[in-house]
Amino acid sequence: MKKIQAEILAIGDELLFGQTLDTNSHWISGELDKVGIKVIRRTTIGDREEEILTAFAEAEARADIVLITGGLGPTSDDLTKPCLATYFNCNMVMFEDALRDITEFFARRGKELTELNRLQAELPECCTAVRNTIGTAPGMWFDRNNKVFVSMPGVPYEMKKMMNDTVIPRLLEKYQTPVIHHQIIKTVGIGESFLADKISSWEKSLPPHIKLAYLPSLGEVKLRLTAFGQSRDALEKEIATWVDKLKPLAVNYIYTYGEQSLEEVIGQLLRDKKLTLSIAESCTGGYLSHLITSIPGSSDYFLGSMIPYAYEIKMRQLGVKPETLEKYGAVSEPTIIEMANIVRAKFNTDIGVATSGIAGPGGATPDKPVGTVWIAYSDKHQTITKKLQLTQDRALNIRLSAVAVLNLIRLSVVG
Ligand code: ATP
Repeated sequence: MKKIQAEILAIGDELLFGQTLDTNSHWISGELDKVGIKVIRRTTIGDREEEILTAFAEAEARADIVLITGGLGPTSDDLTKPCLATYFNCNMVMFEDALRDITEFFARRGKELTELNRLQAELPECCTAVRNTIGTAPGMWFDRNNKVFVSMPGVPYEMKKMMNDTVIPRLLEKYQTPVIHHQIIKTVGIGESFLADKISSWEKSLPPHIKLAYLPSLGEVKLRLTAFGQSRDALEKEIATWVDKLKPLAVNYIYTYGEQSLEEVIGQLLRDKKLTLSIAESCTGGYLSHLITSIPGSSDYFLGSMIPYAYEIKMRQLGVKPETLEKYGAVSEPTIIEMANIVRAKFNTDIGVATSGIAGPGGATPDKPVGTVWIAYSDKHQTITKKLQLTQDRALNIRLSAVAVLNLIRLSVVG
């Protein structure tokens, strides 16, 4: 089956000037992907006739479907409609159904229809109007040489309604699209290139209709398998066999087979095992607790935390021995062991975890450069420590330390 390809054109100077974020293209991409239409390019264009016309021609040459948003308003800087009339070489005429929708739109608001608004119902003769019941600019559908152009308003909620009510159903009537199935596999505790190395033989053996993407983020690597075919059931079964083959290659790193975050997975693990958690976080300054408590229902397993940031607070409030701090310093294995053990005892939880490190940019010593972080996990059977050598970037060090602790909890609790 031929793959149906689409391009998205977002029109408007405000998008190029950085005043408005082009969320429309992002959303449309996701919706097309769900129905098996492949987006091959997204373009942003300013309010200039020549550039808009060039973009139309270029998109038409490459794609079957061109979806356009923006520039449909009634003012002189809204050029999409006249450009479409020029491009498809047809006159503007009044569309009575569209005029009725616009008139009713204003009547519902108790407002008079202005001439400018009335003109919004004038559309190129060669299109069919796409209804807009929640705004004033009708959409336009052009069909020429088996290629479709659809123009929609820039206002996100108007565009979304048009896509859902009319555009997607009509595209699916017109084109036979393949089924696309995605499978997400999230990993933590291994960098992208190391992971790629570990799974390279598996990746090489994937059939051509299954594609693998690496989507790294701070401290994590998400894998996405995408399969194209005719039957969703068959694709799901086939992908499941490939996931089974992957598992033994990355078993310690995979933490979920969906979109769940690491903190959600940790929360589920602790809840299932009826374990409670407390935290003593120094260099992460509360960020780890923030991640944990951003999950609804975290009070089931999270009892509280302490942020013993200063030396004295580590001693007086938390209870780390002065000798330990004096002899080894705050960023050291003996200190982090005490921090995790003490917080667990003080808060009377099953698990205590701790962080202490040099987030930077200051605070480094010759033997402890910026990015040196100690983390610890403590439960009644064991205390596990880990030394991390992270980056020069403060925010990154905080994030990576917190992810490393979450991963330490995961590995320790799973066993
Ligand atoms: P209308 O005639 O209903 O105003 P329009 O097609 O003229 O629609 P624009 O004038 O281009 O739309 O944009 C209207 C508003 O929609 C903008 O102020 C902006 O907030 C938003 N918008 C436009 N394009 C986008 C986009 N690509 N992504 C997100 N928002 C957008």
